[in-house]
Amino acid sequence: MNYCPKCQKKVKTRIDKVNESYRINGEDIEVLADVLVCCECGERLFDEELDNDTLLKAYNEYRIRHKLLFPEDIKDIRKQYGLSQRSFGKLLNWGDKTIHRYENGSLQDKAHNSLLTLLKDPNNMKTYLNENEITLSENKKDSLLKKIEGLSEKQQGSKGVAEQMMRSGPSIENGFKSFDYEKFCAMVLYYADRSKELLKVKLLKLMNYADMLSYRENSVSISGSRYFHYNYGPVPERYEMLLEFMEKDGLIRMEHFEDNGYEKIRIIALDKDPISDLSDDETLILNKVYDRFKDFGSKQIADYSHQEKGYQETKEYQVIPYSYAKDLSID
Ligand SMILES: [Zn+2]
Repeated sequence: MNYCPKCQKKVKTRIDKVNESYRINGEDIEVLADVLVCCECGERLFDEELDNDTLLKAYNEYRIRHKLLFPEDIKDIRKQYGLSQRSFGKLLNWGDKTIHRYENGSLQDKAHNSLLTLLKDPNNMKTYLNENEITLSENKKDSLLKKIEGLSEKQQGSKGVAEQMMRSGPSIENGFKSFDYEKFCAMVLYYADRSKELLKVKLLKLMNYADMLSYRENSVSISGSRYFHYNYGPVPERYEMLLEFMEKDGLIRMEHFEDNGYEKIRIIALDKDPISDLSDDETLILNKVYDRFKDFGSKQIADYSHQEKGYQETKEYQVIPYSYAKDLSID
């Protein structure tokens, strides 16, 4: 029961949905609002909680329109550095309550939004710390620096190590592209995500076909991998290590199982959002290869790949150069 000023008594109420317009930073934002209404006369009654929800809805609509961070994003950024709202505010030289308000739904101003977006990246946070006068205590500063190191190692770790190990300039062996760990991961994730069940042996063949086909059609491979002639078909250089990196970084899971006495490995995508987006051209190629072989088992695709000229004309453990891409049996 709520008091209705028009009926001048306590009345039953209901909640109606109405379109409301809010003016935010000079812009009209339409939202579908829940409002409290008197059941007897239909008068709209004041309800603080509902009004507040509607305002937050309007803010979120504004955020979507202007690509601003959401309150949860702001919270995530702060938490990844292990900072309290107070310390984070101090670090940014903002008012005491600013972070608290933002995390609870208040609309952040644009300059604040830009700074937060920038500081999401630990490398930028490091620069910020070095270039600004910070009022945090030495203790807090130290632990923040440690956090930053940890984060950027995690970010750089696998990529750095992999690309360092396979450092070589563009040549016919890598499809005229230096090895690109992110593209390698994106390819694995693409196939693991698309396939109902993806066995490792099949994955390696799909990758070889995709890189080769990309070279044939776009004059450059996708991952920059070199492929070696193994007895069960062409495989990307150091694929064991790379797949282990991916597993360690939480991108995939490798499931070992036994099938008729053979040990097999199933690749499961955990991250459905590859680190580096594939270009349209690359996706087209990956998709083409996927469609061509989607009904092939591991053994079938291995047998098939043995018939390729590049495989036939190289010996075990030799690199299969991309010059053989022109002889691929698929169109
Ligand atoms: Zn009324």
